[in-house]
Amino acid sequence: MKQGKLLYAGKAKSVFRTDKKDTLIVEFRDDITAFDGGKKDTLKNKGSYNAGVSAFFFEYLEKYGVKTHFLRMLDERRMAVRTLSMIPLEVIVRNVAAGSIVRNYPFKEGTKLDPPVIVIDFKDDSRHDPMLNDDLIVALKLATPAELVKIKKIALEINRLLVTLLAKQGILLVDFKIEFGRQGKTICLGDEISMDSMRLWDKKTKESLDKDVYRFNKGDVMATYNLVAQRITKKEKAARPAAAKKKPAAKKKESGSKKPVVKSKAKKR
Ligand code: 5GP
Repeated sequence: MKQGKLLYAGKAKSVFRTDKKDTLIVEFRDDITAFDGGKKDTLKNKGSYNAGVSAFFFEYLEKYGVKTHFLRMLDERRMAVRTLSMIPLEVIVRNVAAGSIVRNYPFKEGTKLDPPVIVIDFKDDSRHDPMLNDDLIVALKLATPAELVKIKKIALEINRLLVTLLAKQGILLVDFKIEFGRQGKTICLGDEISMDSMRLWDKKTKESLDKDVYRFNKGDVMATYNLVAQRITKKEKAARPAAAKKKPAAKKKESGSKKPVVKSKAKKR
């Protein structure tokens, strides 16, 4: 498969056409931004951490029946994905009050939200991603009422699966943002799920393990991304069939292209 023209460049990812109409390539760049692009940096190898974690989550969710755009990793930072017609909604699921919900509403940070709260923002940088409600979403023809029901149901299922997975690693899934697209009539999960789009706290220490480290200068961003990426993908690696371990070590060169897990190289960073 050949990479074609640049279709779209966002703040941290670029999307390319390929010679197949139904397949695109998403490249996770090393750029990181916060506060509507008000804070910007380039952090070496950040793209590969987010690509690895995203791919890991997509594969995990697919295994449990969630339809995603993920096809396969092409290298450390590029993934082949199904072409979707993206819906310009940012679907945020919150399990614990933090971030904008604490700034905008009388929630105390750290309060458990049970049941989880879904907030949907309009993906429109020029308007600073304003929050929507169901009536606005339908009036703006962003999604039909039936699609909205589906989107919320899938978002809650993704939340349930991710909360369970991360809890095993001692990580609390505070909140996360996901985006959906249509493939025909099917609603598929698109975009990414990474440290850039989630709020993760260490269960014991409540330490931030995500982009808040960058937003609020809480420490070494890349050291955090490296450690959390390893922590997230660790159990699954260990749980893989023993047969995988018995493979001869001769074909080292190819090992990265197939398994979307953070590789040992990452440990050096
Ligand atoms: P908040 O509304 O508290 O700023 O964000 C809630 C959650 O959604 C956080 O995990 C945050 O990282 C994610 N999120 C919200 N808006 C965006 C966005 O525009 N891009 C990304 N990557 N994540 C977002």
